[in-house]
Amino acid sequence: MREIANLPDALLALGDFAFIDVETTGTKPLEDRLTEVAIIRFSRAHPPRVWQSLVNPGVPIPSEIQALTGITNRMVRDAPTFFDLRDELRGQLEGAYFVAHNARFDYGFIKNEFRRAGEPFTSDVLCTVRLSRKLYPGASGHGLDAIVARHRLQIENRHRALGDTLATAQFVHHACSEHSEQSVAAAARALLKMPSLPAHLPPDALDALPDSPGVYLFYGINDLPIYIGKAKALRERVRAHFSSDHMSPNDVRLSQELRRIEWMPTAGEFGALLLESQLVKEKLPLHNVALRRKEKIGFLVLDEASDVPRWMSASEEVQTLGAPSVLRFGPFTDKASARKWLMYAGKEHELCDHALGFSSPRIQGERCFSRQVGRCHGVCEGAEGGADHRARVLDAFGALAFPPWPFEGRAIYEERDVANDRVDLLEFDRWCALTGGEPLPFDGDVYRLLVRTLARYPDRFSGTAAF
Ligand SMILES: [Zn+2]
Repeated sequence: MREIANLPDALLALGDFAFIDVETTGTKPLEDRLTEVAIIRFSRAHPPRVWQSLVNPGVPIPSEIQALTGITNRMVRDAPTFFDLRDELRGQLEGAYFVAHNARFDYGFIKNEFRRAGEPFTSDVLCTVRLSRKLYPGASGHGLDAIVARHRLQIENRHRALGDTLATAQFVHHACSEHSEQSVAAAARALLKMPSLPAHLPPDALDALPDSPGVYLFYGINDLPIYIGKAKALRERVRAHFSSDHMSPNDVRLSQELRRIEWMPTAGEFGALLLESQLVKEKLPLHNVALRRKEKIGFLVLDEASDVPRWMSASEEVQTLGAPSVLRFGPFTDKASARKWLMYAGKEHELCDHALGFSSPRIQGERCFSRQVGRCHGVCEGAEGGADHRARVLDAFGALAFPPWPFEGRAIYEERDVANDRVDLLEFDRWCALTGGEPLPFDGDVYRLLVRTLARYPDRFSGTAAF
């Protein structure tokens, strides 16, 4: 084998690069298994290191795949399994960018093999198909064969792991000679979405962030957080704040003030949402404007006697929330948007202005404005029965009917993160979350997620059904 040249300094300045290729028993990462892995690790600290191994997949290799790769059942019979190799492989990949041609495929397989071994795996991924598209936008085809042909790369053992890894590395070398090292490095930076780190953070501040869901806290110079956010994947979310492409004005300010990051993992979206609202409520970070707006949320309530809906802010009525006897509609983000919706619904359903409370008759039986222009059915002047109008009001409101709480008292939801082996037990009552036994204020996001989750995973809730 020819000697492998190291990558140019402009690239290595970004970190170590582990070029990798895998051969498999098929194309589906969730079902199919690895048969071979090759890695070439490039680093400033040492010359390029090659690591490769056949892998015993534990299942037969389909004959057409044996024919394509040349890897036969006999060859892998005595090879180590992924489980045997996992520590060595992790050592090869850890602390380096994961580089592969069509990297989603290789990353998917490696991640799934680690998952089967009961271990999480995460890495920053650089796909050389995307790198090729970025550097050669006019070229037709960015598959490995097209690239090999176009750049006249010399490769041996195509469709074996090391052969394809070498071809991929050769392509990057070749691109560096055709473009400048700096422009290849810039393309890699952009594809890796490498954040331009806030000036006052240590360079490794984002490295330890996990892939799991959770809540993150940004601190300025004192001990109060300036921003609290939630994420389905902490690392990606926090980095997104600082990826130069889409930094909002708020992110720019945050970036200037930021001195320190803390995070708390949760088992899922729910846990993150609840922890976020709880922490925001406690600490009132300067930059969490949107969450504080939630305090204005409320409902329209219909009483027995009148068709005029009453506004009720959610904070006023935690006690009756979810009670089956109350006709409640919403939630609405605030009183003004409830009124807007009501006007719209009134027109749409040809309801009476007087009956809905938008106007009142000066004398008994006076027609409302909508009646004058032919849109009200005439309950105001006795042309429609009160019960009929009521029925149409309920119909108009129907889609926004706020459901009764389906449990007798509290219910516990079990949120699971299988990959990170974590379970959170979350407590709810009357559509509100509880922390330490006390209900948090009603929150529209929590409510909507609860409705969705109850429909999807009813088995994960334990409580006494109310009906
Ligand atoms: Zn009317």
